[in-house]
Amino acid sequence: MVSSHFRNILLKLGIPEERLSVLEGKGGLVEDEFEGIRYVRFRDSAKGFRRGTLVFENGEVVLGFPHIKRVVQLENGIRRVFKNRPFYVEEKVDGYNVRVVKVGDKVLALTRGGFVCPFTTERVEDFINFDFFMDYPNLVLAGEMAGSESPYLVEGPPYVTEDIQFFLFDIQEMGSGKSLSVEERLKLAEEYGIPHVEVFGVYDRRRIDDLYDLIERLHRERREGIVMKSPDMKRIAKYVTPYANINDVRIGSHIFFDLPYGYFMQRIKRLAFYLAEKHIKGEEFDEYAKALGKALLRPFVESIHEVANGGEIEETFTVRVKSITTAHKMVTHFERLGIKIHIEDIEDLKNGYWRITFKRVYPDATKEIRELWNGLAF
Ligand code: ATP
Repeated sequence: MVSSHFRNILLKLGIPEERLSVLEGKGGLVEDEFEGIRYVRFRDSAKGFRRGTLVFENGEVVLGFPHIKRVVQLENGIRRVFKNRPFYVEEKVDGYNVRVVKVGDKVLALTRGGFVCPFTTERVEDFINFDFFMDYPNLVLAGEMAGSESPYLVEGPPYVTEDIQFFLFDIQEMGSGKSLSVEERLKLAEEYGIPHVEVFGVYDRRRIDDLYDLIERLHRERREGIVMKSPDMKRIAKYVTPYANINDVRIGSHIFFDLPYGYFMQRIKRLAFYLAEKHIKGEEFDEYAKALGKALLRPFVESIHEVANGGEIEETFTVRVKSITTAHKMVTHFERLGIKIHIEDIEDLKNGYWRITFKRVYPDATKEIRELWNGLAF
């Protein structure tokens, strides 16, 4: 239930009374709190408020981060989305989405789902110059947190081999969610020294061969892909490398039963479209086929052996925190997400940081494998 204080705020923001009641009934609105800051989180979209929207006590609204259209046939996708118009090409960095905002006198890092992330909120001052929020309190910095030590992902981009970093890719107005133009964003990033995703330049449909070369290079460098954006940010599309598709399959196959079938289907589909668009044949085709087969099967078979030998399906990850309390807050945060993790190890790095090792177990995937291995017939 949402308190009457928030009900009034939401009514003032234009959500009709009946819609509010329906949303509440479905559990689409949840009132939450982070270190004394109260907010309502939208678990579903409602009347212009995207999923992941947060409304704070003072009436400030941070809209959910919008969905980005995906193209799987690069040349035709570009033609449909951008016609003959130019677009910026940026790296799609493989990490997790955060929106960084100042609420009252605190800078908060928000997850895609609309939670305040205790870990990212503690660390964000290491990456972003907070002077930005003194000058622009009504702007939201959206970016990717990525690295080998991440609480949400087992891997990061190849160039962040320790800890984690922030990469800006969007600046939006609070309330309206309207993005600044790419030029304005790049200018502010430069002015305040905020790290930014790599920008590969301005392209258009006639330079498709240069884009193919770029995708091949990113593929070789084990990078995730690109996001293409019209200068005014009105048209945006993403495209991922064959490397990322195969690598996702590899990471997913370790916890095979915990993922929806669509997870694998989508990635195989994208790879097939790449092979078709680039007319990949012969030995090169065979290499892709082998890489995909291995990615799909090897971690899966390893997981079966693990369970057959009495073990569990699990993932281990580490993060660096300044206070051990933050690590405990992350355990609670995951519990609220319905995820069970426990702290395995705490190491004092003697530089003001602690390295925390967490383990996440997958009880459902483990049970499914155990039953099948033990001969369950169906
Ligand atoms: P959706 O389909 O809603 O966009 P998703 O999680 O299925 O979400 P992803 O494949 O993760 O989609 O791609 C979108 C995400 O990519 C963005 O939410 C953002 O976190 C991340 N991202 C990384 N680099 C960029 C970038 N340069 N520009 C925009 N988004 C980026």
